[in-house]
Amino acid sequence: SAKAAGSNQWAFFKQQMTERAAVRLRTEASLHDALKNNEFLLYFQPKLDLQTGKITACEALIRWHKDGRLISPISFIPVAEETGIIIPIGRWVIEQSCRVLRDWQKKYNFAIPIAINVASQQFADASLVSDIKQMALRYQIQPELLEIEITETSLMNDIELAINKLEQLKSAGFGIAVDDFGTGYSSLSYLRHLPITTMKIDRCFVSDLPGDSAIASTILMLGKQLNLTIVAEGIENEMQLDWLKRNQCQIGQGFYFSQPLPQAEFEALYIANQTATISNIDGLRGA
Ligand code: C2E
Ligand code: MG
Ligand code: MG
Ligand code: MG
Repeated sequence: SAKAAGSNQWAFFKQQMTERAAVRLRTEASLHDALKNNEFLLYFQPKLDLQTGKITACEALIRWHKDGRLISPISFIPVAEETGIIIPIGRWVIEQSCRVLRDWQKKYNFAIPIAINVASQQFADASLVSDIKQMALRYQIQPELLEIEITETSLMNDIELAINKLEQLKSAGFGIAVDDFGTGYSSLSYLRHLPITTMKIDRCFVSDLPGDSAIASTILMLGKQLNLTIVAEGIENEMQLDWLKRNQCQIGQGFYFSQPLPQAEFEALYIANQTATISNIDGLRGA
């Protein structure tokens, strides 16, 4: 009967919900263990000056080394956000990035900025600004070497709060980038009031290039008007690169140049790129 079918469906739905909750609980518990057992690591993806082909910065991207496999942040950051464990994970990312910056200074005397991703909930956390300041102080890091990437959506959750936090971070000297720009619902009038230094064009608009360039053009124009550095994410081929160079996009990152790399591999790539005599993209691509 219809009634029986309906109640079956309900039972099925309840079972699914319970399973989802159980999966979330298990994942939360293993994320706690992961922190305790030091199972997270940072990979680094270079950001290049598109005109010169030189690496000017990098983005730190978290990985979870679990049972001999590397787990992508896409599959655990959302759970970490739902359960609140993103806060200590985020602190670990800040501290680890500071450690790496200090190592680079000591070992090679090189100073290139690291960009770290800050999740919505972490951005809303009252201790974020003091956490970052304290860590930079503890590791003796110039604040200019740390850049905070925040998605457009996180900023728009509470604009007053965002302006206030960003002012504090900016006045302390940290860089601020809006990540995945164009995918959220920014109010353009507020964008003017946000003390940001950089906007990253989301890779979905880069992948449309060169054919469908309306959004990328608009973001580049906006960046020029607001005096912001524009970074193109997800550059995968030469046609996209050519378009971006022609349209004065300053900085880019993507698989065309390099995947995110383990620290030692990134260091080797950076050193090779700095000493390369060919001052173009081919220097990095080994062509
Ligand atoms: P995101 O910050 O927008 O990072 C860019 C993502 O695009 C990275 O994925 C990167 O590997 C990938 N990517 C770079 N170039 C290309 C390309 O040419 N083609 C394609 N298809 N992909 C490219 P990843 O490392 O899997 O990170 C995914 C997202 O997870 C990040 O997006 C960020 O939102 C989040 N995430 C990563 N690390 C952290 C972290 O430490 N903390 C927080 N809160 N979130 C993180
Ligand atoms: Mg990012
Ligand atoms: Mg992004
Ligand atoms: Mg993203």
